[in-house]
Amino acid sequence: SLRGKTAIVTGSNSGIGLGVAEELARAGADLVVNSFTDRPEDHALADRLARDHGVRVRYIGADMSKPDDCRALVEKAGGCDILVNNAGIQHVAPVELFPAAKWDAIIAINLSSAFHTTAAALPGMREKGWGRIINIASAHGLTASPYKAAYVAAKHGVVGLTKTVALECAGQGITCNAICPGYVLTPIVEAQIPDQMQVHNMDRETVIAKVMLARQPSGQFATVEQIGGTAVFLASAAADQVTGTTISVDGGWTAL
Ligand code: NAD
Repeated sequence: SLRGKTAIVTGSNSGIGLGVAEELARAGADLVVNSFTDRPEDHALADRLARDHGVRVRYIGADMSKPDDCRALVEKAGGCDILVNNAGIQHVAPVELFPAAKWDAIIAINLSSAFHTTAAALPGMREKGWGRIINIASAHGLTASPYKAAYVAAKHGVVGLTKTVALECAGQGITCNAICPGYVLTPIVEAQIPDQMQVHNMDRETVIAKVMLARQPSGQFATVEQIGGTAVFLASAAADQVTGTTISVDGGWTAL
């Protein structure tokens, strides 16, 4: 059980982050839920998670594109035992047309935020002699697709950061690993479906099967519950010696 542990999950008011938060809470962890907004519904979500799972949950707004916000999130939380770096965005364009501002935003949110939160969280973990850093990378942390230069570069960077942090913490009760999901049907993916339907002149089902899941041999989306369950495993005692590695949850994508 993760009772008595506190987990910060960045970008956790929707999608995979919310799924991970939900499963960590189900396993007994107290939570800090985060996004860049600070709306009544964000705090209502925290209250709902607390009620459903009988754990303490706070919502702390912080913009993961800003280094100071990343570090302030960890400070306001009072440190954490489990840090899940999940916040992420996507933009799709050929490299020579890729807007520089989008490149900078993707590198900041998908990669640099994990550096800043990790740097801020590690001293507290070292004091306790226990910590878990779980980075939500991607199949695109291990392999590429065209038109996703910034995303693929950032996610490969996350895998590199994961290995380096693992080495710096080895033998100190602190592990650092990356989960590499294939396609998971979340808002970030749902939003791509209408565009793909238009580009390929296909209906929704065909786009999902023939375009989105073309590289996912299982032909099925992974679920946010499965990503959450993998995070719970990495936080468990069974994973004490699992560090500096990636766990793919991709229906066989990276085996191809
Ligand atoms: P999503 O859009 O549903 O969720 C993204 C989360 O990040 C949201 O909670 C959003 O509010 C938050 N966020 C965005 N910008 C932020 C910022 N500046 N500061 C703080 N929070 C911010 O997307 P998702 O699919 O759940 O993606 C979550 C992570 O999983 C991302 O890192 C993504 O790259 C990764 N991932 C997703 C898939 C997939 O198929 N859905 C596959 C592999 C990896």
